Amino acid sequence: MGKQRYLKEASATSLVIEPEVVDTVQDIVSSVREDGDSAVNELTAKFDGVERDDLRVDQAEIDAAGEKLTDEHREAIDYTIQNVREFHSRQLDNINGFEAEFKPGVTLGQRVIPIETAGVYIPGGRHPLVATPAMTIVPAAVAGVERIIACAPPQADGTVEPAQLYAMSEAGVDEIYCIGGAQAVAAMAYGTESVPAVDIVTGPGNVFTTEAKRQVFGHVGIDFLAGPSEVLVVADETADVEVVAADLLAQAEHDTNARAVLISLDRDHAEAVVEELESQLPHLQTEETARESWNENGEVLVVEDREAAVDAANDYAMEHLQLMMDDADELVDDLRNYGSLFIGHHAPVVFGDKTVGTNHCLPTLRIARYNSGIWVGTYLKTPTHQRLTADGAAELAPWAATICEIEGTHGHRLSALRRSKTTETSVADE
Ligand code: NAD
Repeated sequence: MGKQRYLKEASATSLVIEPEVVDTVQDIVSSVREDGDSAVNELTAKFDGVERDDLRVDQAEIDAAGEKLTDEHREAIDYTIQNVREFHSRQLDNINGFEAEFKPGVTLGQRVIPIETAGVYIPGGRHPLVATPAMTIVPAAVAGVERIIACAPPQADGTVEPAQLYAMSEAGVDEIYCIGGAQAVAAMAYGTESVPAVDIVTGPGNVFTTEAKRQVFGHVGIDFLAGPSEVLVVADETADVEVVAADLLAQAEHDTNARAVLISLDRDHAEAVVEELESQLPHLQTEETARESWNENGEVLVVEDREAAVDAANDYAMEHLQLMMDDADELVDDLRNYGSLFIGHHAPVVFGDKTVGTNHCLPTLRIARYNSGIWVGTYLKTPTHQRLTADGAAELAPWAATICEIEGTHGHRLSALRRSKTTETSVADE
């Protein structure tokens, strides 16, 4: 392998969605599409084991949720939402439409227009993710989406987890529905008696939620397919062994399919991290999940130099990329494939995941090669326009007509020639 060697190699690196999941989701999506609310209710009983009178969460339930939280919990959620709002507002400030005269009489432009309705999915099967409302709803609100709806799965008592409800409401959602998984995605994509059909479905989720997004794509837009969480830590001997181990485990605990990878520039250091990780595991409340994830998908690669570390990191193209070394900044310019980059010893993924202000809905499964995470642009369209004078049209007509001639698109050619200054002769010649 030349400049790199595995100290630990994952047994399952490709997280393909199993055919049974595809079939299950196909059944769910088509039954929600055909039978609306009654299918959603049946599926909720089947997969979540609860029944609700109303799929929509009413305002009293939302207000009560806020009151159930401690001041400390409310403040932490507010702090996150504020940080995410500030960061994503800065993104919006840097997306501009334009209009300019490119040739005499030929004015071209591009507008920035928010998508009209968005449906966000807030996962809650495994852990009720409380920062996800900020990450999905705030960018939509900042973008100017007119109607934002959210779905979150029911807890065992049939209600949405209160901190999630409070966070969704504070983030700026318009309506909340208590529906989980694939049935939530299908309900938002096709609409039911209770749930409005939206233009784009966004947000992370488990394999059923993700497969449902893949299946409804085309009928509605989606952000991208967000799979189980991933972290790649690139470390050298200057990184604190305990901290590196803790950061790897923090992602491993997300899901048994989550993936934590270490690229180390020092073999002894890498061995110490693995030993430390094993000794931290029994102290984790989420040990079972983290252990399975680490055992199955965890990977440790020792590389010879920084260039090899950068090449490997670009090849992994992981969701989170953490650089744990004194001069981490020196690597930044050469890194190109990552969802979000955490630079230096003091920037763990947990800050980006929970509160710093950047987005935690990020591309996994090497999607970072061609896509980024949720941002304000996820909820914006940039359609183009053109305005031409008679002189501008006359300038373009012969060029367009020639292209049409090559293609054999005769109707197009006539349409162009009718704008030509010598219209009558040109069209008559056809
Ligand atoms: P979830 O809310 O997506 O799933 C819960 C729903 O799954 C349930 O309501 C149920 O309807 C459905 N379900 C459960 N078992 C089923 C079955 N056998 N058949 C059909 N449907 C079934 O949440 P989760 O399970 O907590 O998963 C959240 C995932 O999101 C984790 O994998 C986490 O790593 C990931 N995540 C990714 C990102 C990212 O940006 N990539 C961010 C946050 C979270």
